[in-house]
Amino acid sequence: MDEIVLKGIPAAPGIAYGRTFILDKQEFIVPARSIMEEEVPVEIARFEEALIKTRQEILTIQKKLSTDRDSKHAQILDAHLLVLEDRSLIEDVIQNIRAQKYSAEYTFFEVLKKYVKIFSTIEDEYLKERVVDINDVGRRVLKNLMDETKMHEFEHLEEEIIIVSHDLSPSDTANMFNKNILAFVTDIGGPTSHTAIMAKSLGVPAVVGLKDATLRIYNQDYIIVDGRKGLIIIHPTEETKSLYRKEQDRIVKFRNQFQDIKNLPAKTKDGRQVGILANLELAEEALTSQEHGAEGIGLYRTEYFYMNRIDLPSEEEQFEAYKKVAQSMPSKPVTIRTLDLGGDKFISSLQIPRDMYPFLGWRAIRFCLACPEIFKSQLRAILRASAYGDLRIMYPMISGIKELRQANAILDEVKKGLKEKKIPFNERIPVGIMIEVPSAAMMADIFAKETDFFSIGTNDLIQYTLAVDRVNEQTADLYDPYHPAVLRFIQKTVDAAHQAKIPVSLCGEMGSEPLSAFILLGLGIDILSMTSLSILQIKNLIRNVSFKDAQELAKRVVNLSTGSEVEEMAKAKLKAIAPNLFGFN
Ligand code: PEP
Ligand code: MG
Repeated sequence: MDEIVLKGIPAAPGIAYGRTFILDKQEFIVPARSIMEEEVPVEIARFEEALIKTRQEILTIQKKLSTDRDSKHAQILDAHLLVLEDRSLIEDVIQNIRAQKYSAEYTFFEVLKKYVKIFSTIEDEYLKERVVDINDVGRRVLKNLMDETKMHEFEHLEEEIIIVSHDLSPSDTANMFNKNILAFVTDIGGPTSHTAIMAKSLGVPAVVGLKDATLRIYNQDYIIVDGRKGLIIIHPTEETKSLYRKEQDRIVKFRNQFQDIKNLPAKTKDGRQVGILANLELAEEALTSQEHGAEGIGLYRTEYFYMNRIDLPSEEEQFEAYKKVAQSMPSKPVTIRTLDLGGDKFISSLQIPRDMYPFLGWRAIRFCLACPEIFKSQLRAILRASAYGDLRIMYPMISGIKELRQANAILDEVKKGLKEKKIPFNERIPVGIMIEVPSAAMMADIFAKETDFFSIGTNDLIQYTLAVDRVNEQTADLYDPYHPAVLRFIQKTVDAAHQAKIPVSLCGEMGSEPLSAFILLGLGIDILSMTSLSILQIKNLIRNVSFKDAQELAKRVVNLSTGSEVEEMAKAKLKAIAPNLFGFN
């Protein structure tokens, strides 16, 4: 078979070679298990119990969200309840279990598919939209009918595999922690989608935005994934394989050469020290981050805690997790970001339709302020854990000072409650905000007076500044971290922070690329927080350049006209002063 090369978007560095596993777009794999005549009543009873359980779950969610009954999303949950009570669907399933003698889950899945097909072809827009409800409820019923761990076939494979999928959600990738996954390959997605970020923290290469990879790659194909260049090589020749083996050896050598600077500070030749912290997606990664020389946690993306489960995490559960991270990082800062739901991160337990919380929608702090009970439970857990380490609270997606004040008022209320109950916590816990919306960057001087620190979230700041969706492969070319408008916003934020004498960190992906990190150093960022795997390379960069050079460059690039001019100038400068810094990753 001929070698085929596909070009996509590099999402996580590294090289992998292995066999593919095409993840079914349906996501659920429901085995066609046939049953005996005497098992029919048991299966019907299981089906009815699953309906009751699902109904209970939806009612609990409705209660927890404490929403006004008129609100759109309460109405949607009502629509979900109606699907559960649909007599014709229920009767169809029961009759089919009797007639065809397959398990409750398989029969239900088949009936569900039939309904989805019928509704999808109806001209009426309202009825067409019901497909989403049927699918959502269907997934929930299936979860209650099946052992959830058996729903993803790949999780039971013994051999190491490369996952190929049309799309992977952050919750899919979070499920892949500690599994035999060599790499991810997807048809859609952008370079800073949370799927890409997750691949980096799992330490596996990923290529996204390949458009039709799932049509061109077959199950069990042998492929090479080149995460640095964004290439997929199907049926590689012996020659290509040998080239990539050499490349892989070089990457390992390149990464290992920094081990001796692990415990040294990221200090430039002329004495400017930058804090190097880690971004965490899962609590389990705290230890790995220390192994890579992290001086603390600059961003703990707590939303993963809420994913892949049918309920919301309790305060107690969150407290234990935050406490564990705090204790694993003695006397190091741990910045816990409050729930940043939405965009490309969805939480199944809330059953909120996805179109309600897109990147510009009802998400992150907006959602938390609207659902104070969920927010308070998280804040209480963080505050209680603050008695066990150097914790900080960070609010995501702040766009106006009113939101900050509202969030702080809720925080004060939670603090008061804890004090009354004499529960210990750090009363002076630092509270900061993410600067990731242009309005926040523009108003940074105002925000700086009412917050303890800033953390610039460039992944979002870039998409909001340039009006380019960060997960859309069609516009990935326009997603430009070097765009002077982005750099000017960063500059403005840094200046405002320093004027007010508060620290400013940066926790977007931009901080983990040597070239952009060099510019950020020059712009005056105090702390860079990044995926653990990049820490040593960035430490090495900072130790090999001077602050003065970086500052000179930064001053010039903010006045250039395009991102490519900025990139060219930065490359030329860095190559001239430290040619060995361009390695392989
Ligand atoms: C960011 O927006 O830069 C950021 C760090 O947060 P997230 O990637 O989780 O949106
Ligand atoms: Mg963000």
